[in-house]
Amino acid sequence: MKKALFSAAAMLAAGLFCVLLALPAGAQSAKTTFVTIGTGGITGVYYPTGGAIAKMVNDKRDKYGIRCTVEATAGSVYNVNSVVSGDLEFGLAQADRQYQAVNGLEEWKDKPQKELRAVFSLHPEALTLVASEASGVKDIRELKGKRVNIGNPGSGQRQNSIDALSAVGIDFEKDIKAEQVKAAEAPGLLQDGRIDAFFYTVGHPSGAFKEATAGATKVRFVSISGHEIEKLLKEKPYYAKTTVPVKLYPTAVNDADVETFGVKATFVTSAKVAEDVVYAITKEVFENLDEFKKLHPAYESLTKEGMLEGMSAEIHPGAMKYYKEAGLIK
Ligand code: GLU
Repeated sequence: MKKALFSAAAMLAAGLFCVLLALPAGAQSAKTTFVTIGTGGITGVYYPTGGAIAKMVNDKRDKYGIRCTVEATAGSVYNVNSVVSGDLEFGLAQADRQYQAVNGLEEWKDKPQKELRAVFSLHPEALTLVASEASGVKDIRELKGKRVNIGNPGSGQRQNSIDALSAVGIDFEKDIKAEQVKAAEAPGLLQDGRIDAFFYTVGHPSGAFKEATAGATKVRFVSISGHEIEKLLKEKPYYAKTTVPVKLYPTAVNDADVETFGVKATFVTSAKVAEDVVYAITKEVFENLDEFKKLHPAYESLTKEGMLEGMSAEIHPGAMKYYKEAGLIK
């Protein structure tokens, strides 16, 4: 008797399952797609950027059925790897890192990441170097013998720092005491005199440099320029000249902007992420760009056209569908 009851219940359950499967997709109204965006440390600009993108999409949850969350991560390289492996659906990544991943360079040497897809580009990021006034460092060449945070493994800035140092003839393994801690920890170490300087590739203003320049230890932004850097920019087309707008950090020692080079932040995904999800995110960000730009001062210079530059991976079909529909790409 028990057995008969059990199998009747099982048949009923199986039947119900079949009915659910047979229903058109729209009728399963409770279906929500969960996606996560990999960002960076919480004192950077990626973290609030992930939040800004998530807000645009979550505001339309009834329309799209997408629930977007944000994760603090180690940065660009970590995000690219997690997106490709499917641990994250989306990630922020420097344009140079996107290029290297697609072309099998640096961290991806001889391993081109074929599944990586571009969605759009975002704010400019500057390779930013600060040093304590006490260290006496006023130029990148003066970092020799100093204790310098070059960036944690998984970050975008680590390779940018190494490139800049090598360009001016500094071997990061021999000529400096290189630290590799996360950007969020560097300002505290600088203020406490435990490091002399640190590099961070980030949009401005950022919490990291506010914190680095706001304490009792006087801190200076240091320029990364000169003919060796010009040569580097010619060799690596993904780098472009830029400046750090020091007026955003009024308590820094500097009184004029400092020269350096930088990249664009980009938004990436994987070929495996569904077209309708990527389409919805792209559409919401582009159609509400004015509102989006109000969410962080680093987005000041964003334009729709500029957001289509700096992508080296294939554009995801969901994003492409929107760009064609909006007439942004023919
Ligand atoms: N550019 C940094 C990286 O790729 C992150 C900057 C940020 O979090 O705003 O690791």
